[in-house]
Amino acid sequence: MSTPTGFMEYKRELPIDRDPAERVRDWQEFHKHMSSEQLRTQGARCMDCGTPFCHTGIELTGGTSGCPVNNLIPEWNNLIYRGLWREALDRLHKTNNFPEFTGRVCPAPCEGSCTVGLIGDPVTIKTIEHSIIEKGFEEGWVVPQPPKVRTGKRVAVVGSGPAGLACAAQLNKAGHKVTVFERADRIGGLLVYGIPTMKLEKHVVQRRVDIMEAEGVDFVTNTEIGKDVSAEQLVSDFDAVVLCGGATKARDVQMEGRELKGIHPAMDYLNGTIKSYLDSNLEDGNYISAKDKNVIVIGGGDTGSDCVATALRHGCKSVTQFGTHAKAPLERDIVNNPWPQFPNVYTLDYAHEEAKAIFGTDPRAFSVLTKNFVGDENGNIKELHTIQIERTVDETGRKIYKEIPGTEQVWQADLVLIAVGFEGPERTLIDQLGLEQDRWSNVKARYGKYVTNVDKVFAAGDMRRGQSLVVWAINEGREAAREVDKYLMGSSVLP
Ligand SMILES: Cc1cc2nc3c(=O)[nH]c(=O)nc-3n(C[C@H](O)[C@H](O)[C@H](O)COP(=O)(O)OP(=O)(O)OC[C@H]3O[C@@H](n4cnc5c(N)ncnc54)[C@H](O)[C@@H]3O)c2cc1C
Ligand code: SF4
Repeated sequence: MSTPTGFMEYKRELPIDRDPAERVRDWQEFHKHMSSEQLRTQGARCMDCGTPFCHTGIELTGGTSGCPVNNLIPEWNNLIYRGLWREALDRLHKTNNFPEFTGRVCPAPCEGSCTVGLIGDPVTIKTIEHSIIEKGFEEGWVVPQPPKVRTGKRVAVVGSGPAGLACAAQLNKAGHKVTVFERADRIGGLLVYGIPTMKLEKHVVQRRVDIMEAEGVDFVTNTEIGKDVSAEQLVSDFDAVVLCGGATKARDVQMEGRELKGIHPAMDYLNGTIKSYLDSNLEDGNYISAKDKNVIVIGGGDTGSDCVATALRHGCKSVTQFGTHAKAPLERDIVNNPWPQFPNVYTLDYAHEEAKAIFGTDPRAFSVLTKNFVGDENGNIKELHTIQIERTVDETGRKIYKEIPGTEQVWQADLVLIAVGFEGPERTLIDQLGLEQDRWSNVKARYGKYVTNVDKVFAAGDMRRGQSLVVWAINEGREAAREVDKYLMGSSVLP
């Protein structure tokens, strides 16, 4: 236990982020760090409640409660309080291969289920996680640890997102020779091409890839399995294959005017910018620019928010983000959204803070349904026509949208970004291997087992569960590695 009454003595503190009005002028991360003394005090707020819901990691009413990789949170809170950083790092690495990713981008469902949060503000768990791993890198404690013995077995991992990387790291630890195949030119999946640099700078991903390479993992980029190498070939060349190709098929909107110029899928917009930034500091111009444009983002989720933040950095004239959901309440609804569920409350995400700092208001428009697009005489997008809606859920859990007459509105736009979610994995590998799919079109493989209907072939991460979170992808990659190890060796020491 840290201090039995720490949660009563000390207030929750978070690192002060960079000034939103200043940080939109660059593409660097916006979080600042807390001092060791501040972190020690925050660690002392952990009450060692006995049943730490923070590290349970379960799905509760469609959201995540607790940490999906089951981080040993009360243990490292206590170690930080006692100044034992090295020991805290060892505890952290027991459950999480990449705390430097989750410590930056995880929505922290652990904090939503923290027991202190029942009666006050939860412990600052994510910040402590971030600080432990960064201290580990600063002190030179995070070094390659190649396996002492090799098994002679060869495993192919398709896709280098957090699921593929976690799976590869664990299988390599068990002594198998792992090759990760990635069709993009850089390793990292959505950690690189997806999540913007201001949330996760890409040298942080490369730093971990370099360690894995030094540990013996082989990375092959610019190689699409199913196209450059057939899926059947891969299965016959390796002792096992783990598919971690993500759920990258973007959903589109079908409505009048969709063909107009200036309407783009969010991922084309985000990834174009990231690639151009990494290749040439945006000097090659190979990206869709929002400069001096009125931008409308359709989609109220995190991808939409990342579009808002990117548009601000491009220097847009205005930006609005449409969501079909209603504005969340200021405080947790304790009847319909009780602890330890993830709290659905109104907050300003980093992008919304930035838009508010520049334009004076939250850029989100809630309960808005786009009806059609209208163009100018040259076929460019000019207007969006919308109506306010009321969203309810029927007894089967299906969402129902009721339009409210008289709430029609016209919005000016020069650039529209579609961020309405994803439809599941792409079909190439599924068709080539004859993989069964579940009812959401993800690759069918039971959670905890990861075996598909095809011998030697496993699936993990978004490709198996649909678009989710980095922390779930790490969880699945780790567990799939354990199952592959069992398949190859008859038993496994991997967790
Ligand atoms: C814009 C955006 C922002 C997000 N922000 C966050 C966030 O802040 N926090 C969070 O927790 N989650 C976030 N997510 C979700 C998170 O990034 C994903 O859940 C996670 O990356 C899934 O990991 P994965 O390894 O399963 O797949 P991915 O990260 O999607 O990686 C799959 C990889 O497989 C490769 N691939 C696919 N098919 C083939 C093939 N045939 N051959 C070779 N390679 C192939 C792809 O190129 C890709 O690199 C975000 C998602 C998006 C789209
Ligand atoms: S990985 Fe996410 S849920 Fe787990 S401790 Fe870190 S911030 Fe919390």
